[in-house]
Amino acid sequence: MSEANENSGKPEANNFIKDIIVKQRQQQPGKQVITRFPPEPNGYLHVGHLKSICLNFGLAEQFGGRCHLRFDDTNPVSEDPEYVQAIKDDIQWLGFDWGEHLYNASDYFDNLYEFAIQLVQKGLAFVDDCSAEEIRELRGSLTEPGRESPFRSRSPEENLDLFERMRKGEFEDGAKVLRAKIDMKSPNINLRDPLLYRIRHVLHPHTGDKWCIYPLYDFAHGLSDEVEGITYSICTLEFEDHRPLYDWFLEVLETPNRPQQIEFAKLHLDSVVLSKRRLLRLVNEGHVSGWDDPRMPTIRGMRRRGIPPEALKNMVESIGVTKKDSVISMSTMDHFIREELDRTCPRAMGVLDPIKVVIENYPEDKIEILHGPVHPKNADLGERDIPFTREVFIDRDDFMEDAPKKFFRLKPGGKVRLRYGYVIHCHEVIKNDQGEVAELRCTYDERTLGGVTPEGEKKVKGIIHWVSTTKGLSAEVRVYDRLWTTANPLADKEKDFIEFKNPESLVVRKAYVEAGLKGTPGGQRFQFERLGYFYTDPIDCQGDQLVFNRTATLKDTWAKLDPLKN
Ligand code: ATP
Ligand code: MG
Repeated sequence: MSEANENSGKPEANNFIKDIIVKQRQQQPGKQVITRFPPEPNGYLHVGHLKSICLNFGLAEQFGGRCHLRFDDTNPVSEDPEYVQAIKDDIQWLGFDWGEHLYNASDYFDNLYEFAIQLVQKGLAFVDDCSAEEIRELRGSLTEPGRESPFRSRSPEENLDLFERMRKGEFEDGAKVLRAKIDMKSPNINLRDPLLYRIRHVLHPHTGDKWCIYPLYDFAHGLSDEVEGITYSICTLEFEDHRPLYDWFLEVLETPNRPQQIEFAKLHLDSVVLSKRRLLRLVNEGHVSGWDDPRMPTIRGMRRRGIPPEALKNMVESIGVTKKDSVISMSTMDHFIREELDRTCPRAMGVLDPIKVVIENYPEDKIEILHGPVHPKNADLGERDIPFTREVFIDRDDFMEDAPKKFFRLKPGGKVRLRYGYVIHCHEVIKNDQGEVAELRCTYDERTLGGVTPEGEKKVKGIIHWVSTTKGLSAEVRVYDRLWTTANPLADKEKDFIEFKNPESLVVRKAYVEAGLKGTPGGQRFQFERLGYFYTDPIDCQGDQLVFNRTATLKDTWAKLDPLKN
């Protein structure tokens, strides 16, 4: 079908914006796809932004166009260079590139001022002396038309003079504004003489004290698109009602480029709080360790958790692009994470909650090298060496003292296979003073190596993972889980959402991992067999210190856990 339809194999998800572009390019061959991603540098990017990034950069890529990164700094608040850097970094991590096209909305303050002058000259903008309060009152409501400002009939000459004096700083903040002159009776409130400029005597992080008047978003945004030569200005649905205004500016100013605004539905994830204000609270009050805490829905957090960028991009691709709001479940997100990690992660064994097993009939100083595949579906990656010794750790979950019949792991008097190794038989349970299982005494059957069941013996069903106590490596494993105990922590308006924080969203384990992981640097992904996917922490993995973050479990745990699944 289209040139953008390259990812053959998988069924393509709905993307109505792509369809529009394909159609337009058929009618208008050579029409370029120039998009932009316009973040406000007032926080870290989160999973919601992801959709917009993938869409804007993705479309540009697919159609051989380009996507600009434009920081929206129309609002002259001090911006944090940390956010600017983090946003750039996160977009690059996702694998997108804006090339030379890095801009700030403030780059266009001169152009915008020129546009404003043109509107005044055309009699399409006026300086209003009404206060913010009065303007609000005159604006009307959804059911009531607005009323015209008493200053609306000022002549273009008077307006030009006043606007010029606004720019020069002759008036106080709030004393005057510049407004478009459109239609106070329009059913669309955005067209009721919207504000274009207001006076604010503050320094701007990029333009310093050059300006004391600042353009408002609607005016600045579309015309920045125009100046940059953007062809498709893709934004979220709440801007649908702003489109007539977006188009009005382009039309009355008779601009050459005429970008087209197209709105799509936001990405919503259940069990996730996305608002910057609330995320900031989590960070500032120490409920999480920072913006990059692996429980945070920020790109940073997801990165540190070990989620690969491909998984996120695949997820966004599969959701498609529509005009209908929908909520993506965490199960869906995890599905894409698992799919990618299963394909790419080398395997290893790790024991997160160790109990010691002593294999009494195994020689004390013998070390045997057993073998497991690096990846069960990719023999090319070869095998890993796994030292086996008389003492090993197994996970506490894999032993049960009063086990039901169907429990196929280890139990007193029972047998289990140690993965890639021997069948062991448990004949004694040793407890500590608190009555907890401290050690298991077992014997092994040397005939059973390599999955062999000796003649006349019953096949042992259970296979468990293990790590040698002397050859294995100690590691810290951070077991991350859902941050909230309910699907929507904001639903109960009586309660502070913080109350719904899952107290077990982080459990730190003193674990043991396979010897072969010695010296693993930060930033590596593994599957711990039978347990899940883990990522060596890029900050805390230093020297011989091994720290793993759990990225995902092996199976869907959300559906089961979710008491609110409705
Ligand atoms: P927040 O409401 O969290 O402060 P924002 O929309 O104000 O987010 P911006 O930095 O202005 O944050 O957003 C940059 C771009 O990301 C915008 O084009 C916006 O439409 C888009 N975006 C933000 N949230 C989502 C979302 N949940 N789904 C899709 N796109 C989004
Ligand atoms: Mg915004």
